[in-house]
Amino acid sequence: MTTSNSRRRLLQLLGAGTVASLTAPFLRAFAQDVPRNLLANPRFDVDPFQLGVASGEPSSDGFVLWSRLAPRPVEQGGGMVMRPTPVRWEIADDAAFRRVLRSGDVLARPELAHSVHVEIEGLAPGRPYWYRFMAGDAVSPIGRSATLPAADARVDRVRFAVAGCQHFGEGHYTAWRHIAEEPLDFVFHYGDYIYEGADSGPGERRLNGRPFTDLRRHIGGEIYSLDDYRRRYAQYRGDRDLQAAHAAAPWFVSFDDHEIDNNWAADRDQDGTPPELFLLRRAAGFQAFYEHMPLRLRSRPGVGGHMQMYRRAAWGDLLQAHFLDTRQYRSDQIDGDRDFTLDSPGALQARDPSRTMLGPQQEAWLHAGLRPNDGKRWHVLAHQVGMSNLAMRFGDDPAIKYSSDQWSGYLAARRRLLGHIDDAGMKNVISVCGDAHRHFTSDLLHDGDDPRANGRVVASEFLATSITSGSDGTGQDNDFHRHVTALNPHLKAMTDRRGYVLCDVDRNHWRGELKTLDRVMVPDQPVRTFASFVVENGHPGLQPA
Ligand code: FE
Ligand code: CA
Repeated sequence: MTTSNSRRRLLQLLGAGTVASLTAPFLRAFAQDVPRNLLANPRFDVDPFQLGVASGEPSSDGFVLWSRLAPRPVEQGGGMVMRPTPVRWEIADDAAFRRVLRSGDVLARPELAHSVHVEIEGLAPGRPYWYRFMAGDAVSPIGRSATLPAADARVDRVRFAVAGCQHFGEGHYTAWRHIAEEPLDFVFHYGDYIYEGADSGPGERRLNGRPFTDLRRHIGGEIYSLDDYRRRYAQYRGDRDLQAAHAAAPWFVSFDDHEIDNNWAADRDQDGTPPELFLLRRAAGFQAFYEHMPLRLRSRPGVGGHMQMYRRAAWGDLLQAHFLDTRQYRSDQIDGDRDFTLDSPGALQARDPSRTMLGPQQEAWLHAGLRPNDGKRWHVLAHQVGMSNLAMRFGDDPAIKYSSDQWSGYLAARRRLLGHIDDAGMKNVISVCGDAHRHFTSDLLHDGDDPRANGRVVASEFLATSITSGSDGTGQDNDFHRHVTALNPHLKAMTDRRGYVLCDVDRNHWRGELKTLDRVMVPDQPVRTFASFVVENGHPGLQPA
């Protein structure tokens, strides 16, 4: 269609009266490519911004702004007219929006569940900005984002939260409210943003060996289709505490397993589904994840369903972050996803160097970016599952077992990564992750069979407990706690409570605070610091703080 044709078409669609109500930038932006099915003047009988706003993926001159129009969030289509709908965005200097610095228009398209992802460029480095959206007569809540410092800036301090595993039924999101109230530079969400399981019904189920009734119930059965996944995100994203945390700071997100299916690995699920069928489900899960997260266009899944999720960000000369994807390229778990003993055939497979956690491309990319003397005070590996290679014992069973889903099940890949850090002489690497639904704070050493093993600490790990998954928890009063503490001298703290890790990083010290809530089945509980550890720059190893 020629430009003049499309402009005529636009005028026909809008009618003379409505053109004036649309902004000049919108006409400029879309006159050459106006969708024939544009809904130029949306009207909403209820708030279309019930899923809140978010920002993420900051650079030194911008970030991604996110929202989704969904007046009836859990209905199919979110209660929207299924036509492309214009959304206006604004960025201001201040929370009161006295001075709007930038504004523009985008289309919320039905193909992407009427979500919008606006990539902002050209802002000043190292400062906060406030943003909001408008559609029809509706105005969204205001969010606060921030640009990264300039790449060569001297930075003295960065504070961020590590959190994830937020089963909707297993507790209130009070931890997110506390995160929203922390002064933070960013949030790292390591994954398990949703859980794919069915509504467990009105009665009791078992959770961690105890009877449990869900606080809030999933709608429907286990999720498979794109609309199923969208509805699940709409349920979770409707939570006000979660929205407050999104609106408070820019986020870096990653998926772990439950965004798709428990313990999936590349093209395999845990049930032996043919890979070509599982990939259809994975594509639906990936699309819904993209639709609900403040991700850049480069992460949008294409046809075939790959998502580009590993990437870096730096806070001036202080912190280099490497965000990893340990699901999409990994080898299938050994021993049918079960925990394994060192004398099992699975243990041999764990040491098989042909098996991978990151895939060869990402592994090479990571090693290339982990260099000493690159001018960065700290490097952080921000990923999903624990690297601490924990020996475990359950109940009365004397067998000592290792997780096949964590890095312990990919021991050769773990050796390559720790070996690279050690060989490079890096003494400033911290790992942050989650997945285990407990705080596990540990030093990272070469495993006992590695010829390098000599008791020296290579790096340290803050594995963050869950926001809600596992519900109130048992604290430290259980056999598992006693066994694991006795078996793992490199493990410095663990507790089965809900919460998050707060990292407070300065030039000489990395301080990790293990935040916990005593209960999540009752609302508005206070947060406390269960324990704190410090790592001194250049001297690997956790010290009690
Ligand atoms: Fe989880
Ligand atoms: Ca997980």
